[in-house]
Amino acid sequence: SRREGFSSIPNVKWEDVGGLDFLRQEFERYIVRRIKYPDDYEGLGVDLETGFLLYGPPGCGKTLIAKAVANEAGANFIHIKGPELLNKYVGESELGVRTMFSRARTCAPCILFFDEVDALTTNRGKEGSWVIERLLNQLLVELDGAEQRRGVFVIGATNRPEVMDRALLRPGRFGKLLYVPLPGPDERVLILKALARKKPVDSSVDLSAIAKMEACENLSGADLSALMNEAAMAALEEKLTETTYDTVTIKKNHFEVALSKVSPSVS
Ligand code: ATP
Repeated sequence: SRREGFSSIPNVKWEDVGGLDFLRQEFERYIVRRIKYPDDYEGLGVDLETGFLLYGPPGCGKTLIAKAVANEAGANFIHIKGPELLNKYVGESELGVRTMFSRARTCAPCILFFDEVDALTTNRGKEGSWVIERLLNQLLVELDGAEQRRGVFVIGATNRPEVMDRALLRPGRFGKLLYVPLPGPDERVLILKALARKKPVDSSVDLSAIAKMEACENLSGADLSALMNEAAMAALEEKLTETTYDTVTIKKNHFEVALSKVSPSVS
């Protein structure tokens, strides 16, 4: 994968995202169409949010959907990891934030994605947090520079929205909060089907039935991806031990092996 902080158009498509249709629709309106058909929006003179916060349990598609939005809009994507920004630029964290925003402006239309954005905002006002304090202030300055932010959209992601600094959640900053839930049975079907697009799953396999099994309860998207990988490995293993020359396909028995190895990562 790309180095952090550099821009490119991600190769994640909507089809790679299972479920989360509601989010897809929101982002279509708020980002994708705005980039593709700016005139439609400018003519209306409405003030639309440009900052979003995706929150919810880990491994449920926050990063994936942010990338799909960029891909769909043909926009550049800059991935910033909250904790790394903090560590990498100790003593110059404000410069780090400024650099990221200026880079984003240069390659607009651009989506600036702040992963684990809560790391930049916790412990505000507590002792030893002056680095975070200054970083946060710089972030607010950049977020508020609306004039300069044309074509730059910011999406934050967090598993812990409750620790976010309230100032960051105001309109114009990470103003629109969007929940990314743990998938239910129907969403698990959609996720498995999305993941199967890139794997040689045998046509005899009933992914819906698998997704609805008790063993799949509480599995996140990331867990389902692990399940798919385990199943692929089991298929490969079988081919190697049987030394057949058939092409490998993933069958029901491979999913059974995989199910015994994967368990929910979110409690
Ligand atoms: P974290 O909070 O840990 O950063 P996240 O919500 O950003 O998690 P992602 O990084 O988007 O989660 O998901 C991790 C992986 O899990 C994805 O690369 C993908 O393989 C799989 N995955 C998660 N959610 C989905 C989904 N809705 N559809 C398809 N795959 C998914």
